[in-house]
Amino acid sequence: MDNQPTNTSTSENNNRKPSNRGRSRGGGGQRRASGGANSKNPNSQALTIPKATVSRGAAVRAQKRSQADAQRVANQYLAASATPAARERRANFIDDSPRLRIIGLGGMDGGGSKNMMLVEYMDDAIIMDCGNDLGVDLPGINYGIADTTYLEGIRHKLRAYVITHGHLDHIGGLPHIVPKFPAPIYGSKFTIGRVEEIFENFGLPMPEGFELRTVTMNQHTHERLKIGAFFVELVGITHAIPGSTCIVVDTPIGRIINTGDFRLDPQPLDHDKTDVERLKELGDEGVLALLSESTTPERLGRTPSESTLEQSFVDIMDRAPGRIFVAIFSTNVNRIQMIINAAVHHGKKIALDGRSMMSTLEMAVRHGFVKVPKGTFVPIASVPNLKDTDVVVVCTGGQGEPSSALQRMASGEHRHVKMKEQDTVVLSSTPIPETGNDALIGNMIDDLMRKGVHIFNHANHDLQGVGPLHVSGHASRDEYADMINFTKPKFFVPIYGAYRSKQSHIDLAIEMGIPRRNTVNAENGDVISMTADKMEIDGNVPHGTILVDQTGAIVSNVVVKDRVLLSEEGLVAIVLTVDKRSGNLLTSPDIISRGFIYMRDNEDLMNGLRHELRRAVQQRFKRIDLDRFKVELKDHITHYLFEQTQRSPIVIPVVNIIGGKVEAKTAQQGKAKTSEEIAKEQEKRFQKMRERLLTQDARVD
Ligand SMILES: [Zn+2]
Repeated sequence: MDNQPTNTSTSENNNRKPSNRGRSRGGGGQRRASGGANSKNPNSQALTIPKATVSRGAAVRAQKRSQADAQRVANQYLAASATPAARERRANFIDDSPRLRIIGLGGMDGGGSKNMMLVEYMDDAIIMDCGNDLGVDLPGINYGIADTTYLEGIRHKLRAYVITHGHLDHIGGLPHIVPKFPAPIYGSKFTIGRVEEIFENFGLPMPEGFELRTVTMNQHTHERLKIGAFFVELVGITHAIPGSTCIVVDTPIGRIINTGDFRLDPQPLDHDKTDVERLKELGDEGVLALLSESTTPERLGRTPSESTLEQSFVDIMDRAPGRIFVAIFSTNVNRIQMIINAAVHHGKKIALDGRSMMSTLEMAVRHGFVKVPKGTFVPIASVPNLKDTDVVVVCTGGQGEPSSALQRMASGEHRHVKMKEQDTVVLSSTPIPETGNDALIGNMIDDLMRKGVHIFNHANHDLQGVGPLHVSGHASRDEYADMINFTKPKFFVPIYGAYRSKQSHIDLAIEMGIPRRNTVNAENGDVISMTADKMEIDGNVPHGTILVDQTGAIVSNVVVKDRVLLSEEGLVAIVLTVDKRSGNLLTSPDIISRGFIYMRDNEDLMNGLRHELRRAVQQRFKRIDLDRFKVELKDHITHYLFEQTQRSPIVIPVVNIIGGKVEAKTAQQGKAKTSEEIAKEQEKRFQKMRERLLTQDARVD
């Protein structure tokens, strides 16, 4: 009675790569003859399946399992509105209790993730940082931003966005969120330059009537601005981007300090040291709560100074036999200035490439953060015409990103520059942790070495006989301890880090004498409620992740679930053309398969499926209405395919009826054209930027 499956896909199924998503399936063990029972019952409402070896229930369960797995993957980044608790709390409510509320709408769950802290007191609120999360690994998703459902209830309180520094995980959410919840954006000169840059380069148009309002604050003069019930001040601190600051907020119940990302570099390249004096002064005056960044409190000791890299670059330029390519983060402007200085010292020209590199450097030169002797910058197109020993290219791609400038030059796909023997490549970064970038970087280094290119990367710098090529932008344990020492807070709240890192940071604070009850490891959405003598977690507000694609558009969680399902199981579309009067098929059913099986290698299965479809139309089409027919058809095909292959692809039945009303197909709007237009526009803008950059070097001292 138990027929063996007629094709070999079962064994193929068993050999599938184990997915890292923890799914399991027990399909094969469920075989049971149920088709016979069904076929004996002509009154059964469902379609019958002859010689079935898998029960309908098993097939349905398998499909549900696939869908649940896909949902689980997609739900790692769920919008707040998708949870029932969130909907209950959406209503406007007036909170007049005299408590300070600090809420991480993002950034309390893992490094570099959509950092966003809300400070709320009675009728006033400010947002500190508003970043995006570039670490989202879902098909077609570029990044995540914080869910702002909670802000809808308190929009009348919102007075300002205050930004610690210009990294995307602190500003990348602004072009999405500020137009919805308008308020001025405050920050240091460089930070505001970056904010304007990302608004200018944003892929989507801003809503009608929206105006970007920015306020540049001077972190060197301890300028204090009154914003609602708060006084706000920025204090300069060292990190991996110019103009990094702590945010000091004096609230009616006490002072809070958000450190932003930091390290305490004793010799920063731009000589703009951390304003330790001011931090100590603030500490002496009294600090209610320190909100301290927690990227790497587990790293012992102190982070080496950025200036330890200087000699390494001079040495490489002394030694390199030909052209030199340096891959570096575009926002690491001080380090880029250092490379420019070394190149100028060696009489070399500099070409920049990569969109973010062009865009950020253009802004940095315009605002005077980078100084370049006239004639130093040359267009990337002129590189092939220069003497090899005269060339330094500064570009993006140090993380092995597949479409980056460096990768294109390495693979020979770059329009102007192709790597060749005796070129030298310096990777002035380390792989961003937990991204999988180290494998990408490894592959790129292999490709370059095959071409005879000399590689210098930080991990092997000792072996290659040069000094360090990268230092972290974040503090190590002793520096985190210093920060607690300087500010002497009553309450300690680790922010901007993974749970484990924040916990380690709390241990450090306790070692330094802060009572455990005065610390809290809060998660996204937790309301940290504070009075002058007490801090506690008092509830949780809606929070979550909104997913954004390459164009800047929001992508629904439902769409992502389908993409995950497609990537795991594939898709089968069935197109039937049926005569309305006779109920007969007018043509052989069309079957379209994508990512499921290769049809030409599975003719038996396809023929069997066509046979099933003919039977299904004959048996059921005239007896039930079209919608129900399509539902049954879908179930039937799902069952049949699972029985034959132990897989549950997405099944899409399309039924064309001739001789009556023809089913309308949904017309796809020409979105492709729009994104092409956007790409063209951006291309134009970058061209202009390039031109401006090349003419601007006259602005040097
Ligand atoms: Zn940062």
